[in-house]
Amino acid sequence: MTELYEVITPSVGVETLKGVGKKTEEKLKSIGIHTVNDVVFHLPNSYLDQNPTDVNLVKLEETITALGVVKTEPTVTYLRKGLNRMSFFMEANNVYFKVTFFNQAYLKKKIEVGEMIKVHGKFNRAKLEMSGRSIITSHGDSVDMRYALNKVMNNKTFSNIVKEVFRTQVFNQDLPDYLIKKYKLMPIKQTLYLLHFPDNMDDLRQARRTMKFYELFMFQVKIIEKRKSERVKDESSIIHYDIEQLKEFIATLPFELTKDQKRSVNEICKDLLTEYPMNRLLQGDVGSGKTIVAGISVYALKTAGKQSAIMVPTEVLANQHYESLVESFDDRLTISKLTGTTSSKEKREIKERLMSGEIDLIVGTHALFEDDVIFKDLGLVITDEQHRFGVNQREKLNKKAASRNVLYMTATPIPRTLSITAFGDMDVSLIKTMPAGRLPIETFWKKEKQIDEVIEFIRKEVNKGHSIYVVAPLIEESETLDLMTTEEVYMMFKEAFGESKVELVHGRMKPDEKNKAMERFESLEVPILVSTTVIEVGINVKNATVMTIFNAERFGLSTLHQLRGRVGRNDLQSYCILISEGKTEQAEMRMNIMTETTDGFVLSERDLEMRGPGDFFGVRQSGLPEFKVADLVEDYRILEVARTEAIELFKE
Ligand code: ADP
Ligand code: MG
Repeated sequence: MTELYEVITPSVGVETLKGVGKKTEEKLKSIGIHTVNDVVFHLPNSYLDQNPTDVNLVKLEETITALGVVKTEPTVTYLRKGLNRMSFFMEANNVYFKVTFFNQAYLKKKIEVGEMIKVHGKFNRAKLEMSGRSIITSHGDSVDMRYALNKVMNNKTFSNIVKEVFRTQVFNQDLPDYLIKKYKLMPIKQTLYLLHFPDNMDDLRQARRTMKFYELFMFQVKIIEKRKSERVKDESSIIHYDIEQLKEFIATLPFELTKDQKRSVNEICKDLLTEYPMNRLLQGDVGSGKTIVAGISVYALKTAGKQSAIMVPTEVLANQHYESLVESFDDRLTISKLTGTTSSKEKREIKERLMSGEIDLIVGTHALFEDDVIFKDLGLVITDEQHRFGVNQREKLNKKAASRNVLYMTATPIPRTLSITAFGDMDVSLIKTMPAGRLPIETFWKKEKQIDEVIEFIRKEVNKGHSIYVVAPLIEESETLDLMTTEEVYMMFKEAFGESKVELVHGRMKPDEKNKAMERFESLEVPILVSTTVIEVGINVKNATVMTIFNAERFGLSTLHQLRGRVGRNDLQSYCILISEGKTEQAEMRMNIMTETTDGFVLSERDLEMRGPGDFFGVRQSGLPEFKVADLVEDYRILEVARTEAIELFKE
C-alpha cells in the first residue's frame, strides 16, 4: 500500500541521524516525529517573507513585507489594562497608509520620521491599513520560516535536523516522471527542500503547488488501492431480479419517477447484475424521493427470492420508513420492524421469521447489529443517513450479508470535493431534481422582538388547517442571557394558541410518551409541535407548512437545511422562519445563506467554505486525512486533475 508521507524507504528512526542524541530523540517523539520521513514532512507553519512586496500588487488583504519611509511620529494609546496600540503613517510604492501594532510599543524606538523601514504585516488594500506583526531589521532578502515545535526545541535546532536528513537520506519515492513533466511540477525532494528552505516566495509557491498535487494524487492512489483490494468478484452477489415484475410494480406507483430517480434505479439494477458487490451512495436532498428508490431495490431483491435490511439511526426514522414502505408495498412485501423498543416476545418471533426467510425486508436501528439476528439469505443492506453510524457498526451489518450489496443513502448534500475524497471508494447516484409540483420554501429571518409577528403568521397557517413545527434547541436556564429556553418557547405557544393546540417533545422523554405526542401531531389532532432537535430526521407530515427555529444560530447550515426539509412536502406553499439575534458574523452569514438559497448543494459548498472539511462530518468518522498543504475546498481543481490521473494510472 502506498503511504502518503513516505518518500524515504525504508524509513529509519530519527536516532540514526548525526547530532540526534537520546534527549533530542525524546523531544522529537514528544511532538510526533519518529522517523526521517516525519522530519521532512514536518513543514514550517509560517513563512516570513523579508523581501519587500509592492503594496500595489496586494489584491484585497495579504501578509507582506512593505519597504517604505516613515511619515509621522508613532503614537501610543493605552486602550485598557494589558492592551496598547501604536500607530503611525508610512509611504511605500507611492501609497500612503497607516500601520498599527498592538502591544508592541517597544518597537517605537525603531521608527523615525524620514527613515526607511521594512514592516511585516497584513496589508488591507481597501482600507489602506497595515496590521503590523514585526519590523525587520536584517538586511538579507530571504524567507524566514517558523516551525510548530511546541517549545521543545528552537527553529534553528530543528532546521539543522532537517538539513541532516536531506544530506544523508536517499529520497527514493516520487510522483511518476510523466506527471512531473505534464504539470510542470518538481521532484519531491526538491519540493520538500524548498518548503523548508525557500529562497523567495516564488520558490515557495512553486513548491506548494507540487506538494498539493502530490498529496491529493497520492491520496487518490491510496483510495483506489483500497478499493481494488476490497472489490473482489463474488458470484453470490449477483441478484437475478425479475425485470417484468419490477416494471409492473413501478407502474402502480401513484406518481411518475423523476429522471434522476429512474437513473438511480437503473444504476442500482446494473450493480445487482454484476459479479461485484454493490457499493453505492444514493445522494439526494431531503424530500427528493430516495426512499422509493430504496424500496424499488428491495423489491428487486424480493423478486430474486432474497432478503433486504434497512438500517436507520433513530427509532423515529425506523417508524417512518416502515410505515411509508408498508403503504407503498401493501402485501407485495413482508416487512417487519426491529428497534430498541420491540418487546422481547416480538423480537423472538421476528428473528425466527428472518431465519426462515418469511420476512423480505427488515427496517431497524442498531438492534439489527445483535449477533443473534440471523437472516436466511440477506442480499442487500441499505443504510440511511450513513454518516451517523460508526464505521464499525456498519461493517457488522454488512458482514451479515453474504453477498454484501450495500446501498448508502444520505440527505446531507455532500459537496463535490468531499464526496470525491470521503466517498471516493463508492459509486454515487445523485438525485438532483425534486418531484414535480413542489414550491420552493420561503425562508425568513426574524429577531426575537418580532415574535408577535411570527405568532400571528403561524396563527393564519393553523387556521388553514396546516401543521407547524417549532424547534428550540435545548437550553439550560443557566446558559441563558437572552436566549429562549425550550420551556419558555413551549409556554409562549401554549399561551398564544391554548394547551390543546401544542405538543412538546424532547430528548429526555420516555420513548412511549414521545411516540404518543408525535402520533397526536402526525394524525393532525394537534397542529403545533414544539421540540428539541429529536425530529431532525424522520418525521413526515405532509400537511406541515411552517418550520420555526428558535436560536437558529445554534445550528449548523446542514442541520438548518435538514430541518427546513421537513416542510414543503406537498403542493402547499411552505415557510421556514429562523429566529436569531444573529450577533456574530458567522450567525449572520448562516441566516443570510439560508434565506438566499434552498439548494442543498449550494448550501453545503458554503458550509464547507465556512467550516472547513475537518468539521464537516467530524474528522474521525469521515476518514478524511488532514493534508499538510492541500486544502480540499481551495484546491478542488487540483483534486479533480489528481483524481483523473490516479484513475488513469490504474487503468493499465
Ligand atoms: P427523501 O427520502 O429523499 O427525503 P422521500 O422518499 O421521503 O424523500 O420523498 C418525499 C415525498 O415525495 C414522499 O411523500 C414520496 O412519496 C414523494 N415522492 C417521491 N418520489 C416522487 C415523485 N417522483 N413524484 C411525486 N412524489 C414523489
Ligand atoms: Mg427519507
